[in-house]
Amino acid sequence: MSPAAFARAETIAVGSELLALGRVDTNSGHIAARLAALGIDVVARSVVGDHAGHLELAVRTALQRADLVVLTGGLGPTDDDLTRQAVSAALGRPMHEDAEQLARIAARFAARAIPMPALNRRQALLIEGALRLDNPNGTAPGQWIDVGAQAVVLLPGPPREMAPMLELVVDGPLAARAGRARTYTRGLKVAGRSESAVEATLLPLYAEWRTHTPAIEATILAALGRIELHLFVRGEEEAPAVAALEAAIAQAAEALGPAVYTTRDESLEELAGRLLREAGWRVAVVESCTGGMLGARMTDVPGSSAWLEGGVITYSNALKTELAGVPAPLIAEHGAVSEPVARAMAAGARTRCRSEVGIGITGIAGPDGGTEAKPVGTVFIAIETPTIAACRQARFVGDRAVVRQQSVSAALDMLRLALTGHDPVGAVR
Ligand code: AMP
Ligand code: MG
Repeated sequence: MSPAAFARAETIAVGSELLALGRVDTNSGHIAARLAALGIDVVARSVVGDHAGHLELAVRTALQRADLVVLTGGLGPTDDDLTRQAVSAALGRPMHEDAEQLARIAARFAARAIPMPALNRRQALLIEGALRLDNPNGTAPGQWIDVGAQAVVLLPGPPREMAPMLELVVDGPLAARAGRARTYTRGLKVAGRSESAVEATLLPLYAEWRTHTPAIEATILAALGRIELHLFVRGEEEAPAVAALEAAIAQAAEALGPAVYTTRDESLEELAGRLLREAGWRVAVVESCTGGMLGARMTDVPGSSAWLEGGVITYSNALKTELAGVPAPLIAEHGAVSEPVARAMAAGARTRCRSEVGIGITGIAGPDGGTEAKPVGTVFIAIETPTIAACRQARFVGDRAVVRQQSVSAALDMLRLALTGHDPVGAVR
């Protein structure tokens, strides 16, 4: 008889650096997402410092609640790497040196022509009954230990070692223990709307989706300048689950209109780049209050040289005139933070940088410099293409960093709206 499928899992991230400001535990989320796709719910996650007693207790506690306990970290060779020892103690199982693993570690050092430090011998210790999980990217092997109907898994801490080993586990020992049900997911991303506005639009759909067969669950995630809708269906068959998800995504996209910028796993800047390539256009930017952040986000996208010409940071009035061609009298009359100046910056980006599309950003990021008419957070973002010219006056709420990041996101959103034939200002709410 095959063993029962796992339903509940817990993860334990090991490392004192994960408790302080030093490092963020990214492994646990990665593991949870991977297990969720296999229909295994992570019901609790803990982060435990490098302390043998606390670790042992965490493992014992997790085994009282979960079918599967996945630990990450603490498999290194040094004294603060205590995961093997703590799991051995929690399970009451001794460790032994695995000759084959020792040979592998020795070979890794030999390949680099350095002598193997005696400390690394520890990494060849396997807990009784463990299945060794090879680590092609490091010296620490992982371990899979069946504990009656449960299992404990030890994975390394460095994400580039953990992630490939997790795939080995998913395809190997875990494949036999996942149920037939899987969780399928689809999503969409929205710009220029508040979370509550998106939620209000979608509420009637939520109700409908819950009564759907298969039932569709929805979650909304808000990030700076972006709202994400995630939909989930749990089922044993892929085709009906995916069909239900895609129909629901289409309903949501229809209800939300052009505020939806993608139903793919892509960022606003990746999308803008893709649209520019399709149009055969290049973009240039003239930035004031964002000081190059828009250009930086565009260059985050690999291959952006295909569609980004470049740009200038014109922080002073003088440079706005000299480099972007903004007429000095325009600045004198309306102020540097004004619609006419933003529009002139966008026009200057096009002509001075010989690009089809120009973007200009000028605003008051704060904390000083606000006035009654133009309070902190007032930002003018202009775009000019061969077919349209538009300017948005935004009023962002938040500190300097937030105002600047929102300005960049808003500019990218105006770009994608312009490139998809929408009014770059009209869709904003
Ligand atoms: P360790 O396996 O505990 O020696 O961890 C080695 C390194 O991996 C740590 O210094 C971190 O940089 C990284 N690391 C460990 N645990 C995690 C985690 N849960 N998430 C992300 N990085 C981690
Ligand atoms: Mg560690």
